[in-house]
Amino acid sequence: MTTLNEKYLGKVLPYLHGLDGGECKEKIFRNGLKGYEFPCPFCSDCQSKPKHKRKRVAYLLPHKESFSWTFFCHRKQSNECSGDGKSFHNFLMMINPTLFKQYLKEKDPAAFFRQYRDANYKKYLN
Ligand SMILES: [Zn+2]
Repeated sequence: MTTLNEKYLGKVLPYLHGLDGGECKEKIFRNGLKGYEFPCPFCSDCQSKPKHKRKRVAYLLPHKESFSWTFFCHRKQSNECSGDGKSFHNFLMMINPTLFKQYLKEKDPAAFFRQYRDANYKKYLN
C-alpha cells in the first residue's frame, strides 16, 4: 500500500528535474533506503553556468521506517534552501502550494476545512 507521503512524492518528483536538462535521480543512501538527488529548486536558477544549474546538489533523504524524507541542499545559496533541511511537509508547501493543499485535505479533511473556513471568515472580519 502506498502511503500519503509516497503518493505526494510521486506527484512532486516531475517538478524536480530543474531547468536546462537537469535530472532527478534515485539514489540509495547509506541506510539502504531510496531517496533522490536533483538540482536544487531554490538556488539552481541563480547559478550563472548551465553546468551548475543542472548539478544535483539537493537531496530528499529517506527516513527509516516512516515513509518520509528530509530535503537538504548542499549549496545553500538561497534563503529557502539554507539551514538544516526541511521536512517533506514544508518542502511540498514551498515547491508546490497547490499540491500541498491537496495533501493537507487528504491527510486530515476536517482540519483542512476548518482552516479554510476560518481563513474565509477572516477575510470578512477585516
Ligand atoms: Zn539550494
